[in-house]
Amino acid sequence: MSRKARAVIRLDAIRANYRLAKSLQPAAKAVAVIKADAYGHGAVTVAGALAGEADAFGVACIEEALVLREVGISTPILLLEGFFDRDELPLIDQHQLWTVIHSVEQINALEKFTPSSPLHVWLKMDSGMHRLGVPASDYAKAYSRLAALPHVDEIVLMSHFACADDLQGNATQAQIDLFRQHTVGIDARHSLANSPATLGWPPARTDWLRPGLMLYGASPFEEPHPEADRLQPAMSLRSEVIAVRDIEPGESVGYGASWTADRVTRVGTVAMGYGDGYPRHARSGTPVLVNGVRSRIIGRVSMDMITVDLSDIPDAGVGADVEFWGETHWINEVAGWCDTIPYTLMTCLTARIPRVYI
Ligand SMILES: *Cc1c(COP(=O)(O)O)cnc(C)c1O
Repeated sequence: MSRKARAVIRLDAIRANYRLAKSLQPAAKAVAVIKADAYGHGAVTVAGALAGEADAFGVACIEEALVLREVGISTPILLLEGFFDRDELPLIDQHQLWTVIHSVEQINALEKFTPSSPLHVWLKMDSGMHRLGVPASDYAKAYSRLAALPHVDEIVLMSHFACADDLQGNATQAQIDLFRQHTVGIDARHSLANSPATLGWPPARTDWLRPGLMLYGASPFEEPHPEADRLQPAMSLRSEVIAVRDIEPGESVGYGASWTADRVTRVGTVAMGYGDGYPRHARSGTPVLVNGVRSRIIGRVSMDMITVDLSDIPDAGVGADVEFWGETHWINEVAGWCDTIPYTLMTCLTARIPRVYI
């Protein structure tokens, strides 16, 4: 391999983060959320690494589930958005998938379908996110309709938080309260907690946790947090310096000449760009590690290259190792410099970046 841009992924870190999620509520089970190709980490490999211990996997659509079944993953798989079309029901039956039910239309479709063995469904309440889910006021009725079907066995009651990363606000507790109020008297398991709720909202740690981001070792919070700070970053995005030059004060670097040197600057050009998924809107100053030493990007991110400041790292020449985020250089900090969240940095990595597993 000649171009050195790659994402090195530690599967043991993902396992440790899954165990951390479970340790926060040992009585609970957990759906390891591996949608969007396991947030860019490679769903098949991550599922393989967790197959021995994950209680279930969560994906966004049936295509993502079938890829896992095709490679022999037999762990339960939950379709987090349910089915988009009733055509999917025979496949859900055949592959023993669990499906979310978030609308009356889906209940209508289920009523007309006869599977070969009973289905396991998760009934979603819209408790305030207002994206998917049965309204709270209709929830008990929706539950009764599903419970009346002979071909539905277990029904897990679920909802999703809009603001669980905000540990000071009232929105999450209000969603918990509404969910509880409208599930009183229904004897079924509950599932509320995504990563921020698993880490930061103990009352939301009910029967089934649904950690996603935290499995990969990024924090869902902007501020330091005692539990999130125990996560182990799983991905190290790396490449190497492919060219070096000195520029004079007043000279600029890259497209649009957006960064201009105010001293003699040693510029390193690195094989990484927005064609790899590194965000184009990363500002000059976004930290990188060069041979383990902190430096920063200067100038605009191009499709295949990024320029970094090597002025204070004189021994770093062509071939020097560059880390864009990783174990000691947290993706959360990089996300802040790019006005985004770790979720997008991970999921936007393109197919050009080889995933290397250790
Ligand atoms: C994506 C998703 C999750 C995981 O969210 P994180 O914030 O990444 O932990 C949990 N539940 C549902 C319904 C989701 O769609």
